[in-house]
Amino acid sequence: MSLQIRERVSLKPFNTFGIDVSARWFVDVSDDDQVRAALAWAREQQIPVLPIGGGSNLLLTGDLDVLVMRMASLGVRVLADDGHTVVVEAQAGEPWHPFVQQTLGMGLAGLENLSLIPGTVGAAPIQNIGAYGVEIKDVFQGLTALDRETGELRDFGLADCAFGYRDSLFKREPGRWLILRVRFNLTRTAHLHLDYGPVRQRLAEQGIEVPTPADVSAAICSIRREKLPDPAELGNAGSFFKNPVVAAAVAERIKVEHADLVGYPQADGQVKLAAGWLIERAGWKGFREGDAGVHRLQSLVLVNYGSATGAQLHALAMRIQADIAQRFGVSLEMEPNLY
Ligand code: FAD
Ligand code: NAP
Repeated sequence: MSLQIRERVSLKPFNTFGIDVSARWFVDVSDDDQVRAALAWAREQQIPVLPIGGGSNLLLTGDLDVLVMRMASLGVRVLADDGHTVVVEAQAGEPWHPFVQQTLGMGLAGLENLSLIPGTVGAAPIQNIGAYGVEIKDVFQGLTALDRETGELRDFGLADCAFGYRDSLFKREPGRWLILRVRFNLTRTAHLHLDYGPVRQRLAEQGIEVPTPADVSAAICSIRREKLPDPAELGNAGSFFKNPVVAAAVAERIKVEHADLVGYPQADGQVKLAAGWLIERAGWKGFREGDAGVHRLQSLVLVNYGSATGAQLHALAMRIQADIAQRFGVSLEMEPNLY
């Protein structure tokens, strides 16, 4: 199918903050040939390209003089099955949560804790998405990406991706790699991760003693629906800041004044602080200025009540960062990608 490149397209429906900026050029790409054709067109016109998936990890601060290339390739297939481990490959444009549900429907475990995360399969490795004690790296088999510098396809294994906490090689080399499809090692026998947050308790409340992966998914969906704003109703990009990982001495220093500091010791001796706790303690929970605000239930989530601009949300984020640095001596790093 030929490419349909459109001019001056509002990006409001294509970012979960619902920010109304426009792309000079916009195209949906559904397969490798369309990806290559769109990149060739942009090269000829000397226009930068910005790939997007579901737009759930973006903060757009102005009109974009680029070709926005929305990854819309679909398809899920089984590549290998040894009776225990099943390798499943999904195209980059597959919406993440329906893909998780599809694998659970196939009787496969591994992705249940990552239920209800918005976005696409192709973007999931970029920040090594994680929730409720599981990260994509835990079930990652490999991916195929296009090197935009050379035009060549490259297969990445787990060790090649340098996955870290909400981080990967792809995040550290922005603009270079275009992820086309991702492969997952899923299993017929479940090793469930229930010891994180209120998961086990929610299952108990539901009277489930021996949960299946589908039960865990349903419990996590119900917890998330209670705590997190639905972008269809209130614009947001999920957690706006990463949880800062600090030296144990820093955590101890803060604890002298704040005995109830929430922190989780890491294997390397450092401590991961709950950024939401720091922001709430600093008094930002529920703050609103114009249409930009901090969610009233979850202080890690910045929200757009309607017509906030990306610049206003960014300004609010920087005020929060400065306040947290001044109060606690801790620097907060933004999680969404700023354009
Ligand atoms: P986009 O926002 O479209 O893009 C993100 C970045 O990836 C951009 O830099 C873009 O250029 C690049 N990109 C997109 N697709 C590709 C591709 N195929 N190849 C190369 N680059 C690409 N995240 C978590 O980790 N855990 C959570 O629990 C979680 N919960 C969330 C809850 C809510 C309500 C919201 C709104 C967000 C949440 N997020 C969470 C953040 C977000 O959903 C994830 O980071 C998701 O993987 C982003 O996918 P996307 O398709 O929307 O990416
Ligand atoms: P929560 O359960 O209220 O916990 C607050 C923070 O403490 C979380 O950010 C989590 O860190 C950390 N935490 C909780 N239990 C932990 C444990 N047993 N060991 C280590 N760290 C622990 O968090 P929440 O806001 O409701 O989110 C629930 C999960 O969904 C979290 O994993 C969170 O990361 C994920 N989530 C992510 C986004 C996003 O946009 N990135 C948005 C919504 C939810 P971690 O964040 O490191 O897990």
